[in-house]
Amino acid sequence: MRRPLIAANWKMNKTTAEARAFCEALLPRLDGAAGGAEAAICPPYLALPLVAGLCEGSGVGACAQNMHYEESGAYTGEVSAAMLLDAGASGVVLGHSERRQYFGETDEALSRKLPVALAAGLVPILCVGESEGERERGETDQVLRRQLDAALARVDGAALADVVIAYEPIWAIGTGRTATAEQANDACGFIRALVAARDGGAAERIRIQYGGSVKPGNAAELLGQSDIDGALVGGASLDPDDFAAIVAAA
Ligand code: PEP
Repeated sequence: MRRPLIAANWKMNKTTAEARAFCEALLPRLDGAAGGAEAAICPPYLALPLVAGLCEGSGVGACAQNMHYEESGAYTGEVSAAMLLDAGASGVVLGHSERRQYFGETDEALSRKLPVALAAGLVPILCVGESEGERERGETDQVLRRQLDAALARVDGAALADVVIAYEPIWAIGTGRTATAEQANDACGFIRALVAARDGGAAERIRIQYGGSVKPGNAAELLGQSDIDGALVGGASLDPDDFAAIVAAA
């Protein structure tokens, strides 16, 4: 049995005061959901220690939105795995399409980040997904294979079970255009088959999320699919009621 992971990607939203108000509203709403899905919040770095502290003992994790692969050094503006652990993080989102599109994140850098996160004990949430044009040209599987082969090149087969993969079609992120449950499940199933080609046991255990305009109204159908083990939620994760409803749907 794979325990679904519902992760809130806040992107560049919420001050520490807003983060505190969110956690204080969310945690009592999740009480009844204990034993079901696992939840995590991915705040901006500055709110990470606060969110980790407020969520301590609740089972809700705190994850960063990016990380550098070097341990330390002259990398202005960057943050290392050790710094994330020190801030209370339990995981880290890697390769979000916004980082690839606006900040030059490369598959090569991701292939270095993944083993560093795993070695530090951080759960990496690796984002992959095709653009609208790539889907229209029938290139979705090819894009997913290329991104996963590259990003996971330095991860041992058995260790793949400790990675979370988020299938996020770029055309569905922040657009209100959700992939159909069938499209999402097909892509997640394809990703699982790629993992199985490297390690059958890891493919059974690895969690594959869907992300792209997940809302309380569509969460149950998406999360009910056989190969979808959770969601990476952007816009709807900014509201504690909506996020709690998505966790409850899982
Ligand atoms: C995301 O940022 O990962 C995301 C899926 O955003 P949204 O839910 O707003 O589409």
